[in-house]
Amino acid sequence: MPPVPRADPLSVVETKVAQGERLSAADGLALFRSSELLRIGRLADGVRRRKVGDDVYFVVNRHINYTNICRNRCHFCAFSRSDGEPGAYCLTVEEVLAKARESIGQGATEIHIVGGEHPTLPYADVRAMISGIREMAPTVHIKAFTASEIVHFAESEGVQPEQILRDLRERDRNDSSREHAPLRRADDAVVVDTTGLGVDAVVERLAGLAKERLPA
Ligand code: SF4
Repeated sequence: MPPVPRADPLSVVETKVAQGERLSAADGLALFRSSELLRIGRLADGVRRRKVGDDVYFVVNRHINYTNICRNRCHFCAFSRSDGEPGAYCLTVEEVLAKARESIGQGATEIHIVGGEHPTLPYADVRAMISGIREMAPTVHIKAFTASEIVHFAESEGVQPEQILRDLRERDRNDSSREHAPLRRADDAVVVDTTGLGVDAVVERLAGLAKERLPA
């Protein structure tokens, strides 16, 4: 008997997408389990084009890698160095702040800080980076540190990771009266409305969400 062809799990999704139907949780799982990235990408791009054409939305992000010295040296990592190895570096707090200041002066709306698990860098320096950036730019969005760095800081301080997260959030909130960066629509930054509510309603909603604070 000839082999029975297996059902194509993405064909159901493709049909729904073509008909503009909402996907189910099972469809989400099928997408998650599929390795057909190009096919899924074409589907997503088709929906995007149908909804917003060529409009795109983005933040102006500056990535600051404060150190590439890392105690882990994961095998796949081409970024990290051991202390003393050629190419190893660790920026001072002042150098990090200078990079942030330069970027914000050039219009950055988000500062993204990430580095290796430096074995001796004091956690106080990490806090000073966040406090310093918040002080210089009350509205800029700060995106900082990987989960492994947070755990590393916790281990070096002898506390739980949650305490580090709460502490860093407090550094970010030094100016409790601050507003978040206003959402800007400019020639080179277009807010995409995928909700059908209209761009102004989306901007208002996003601005409201940005102002909401998590409970302490
Ligand atoms: S923990 Fe991160 S920075 Fe360090 S070696 Fe691994 S991937 Fe690289």
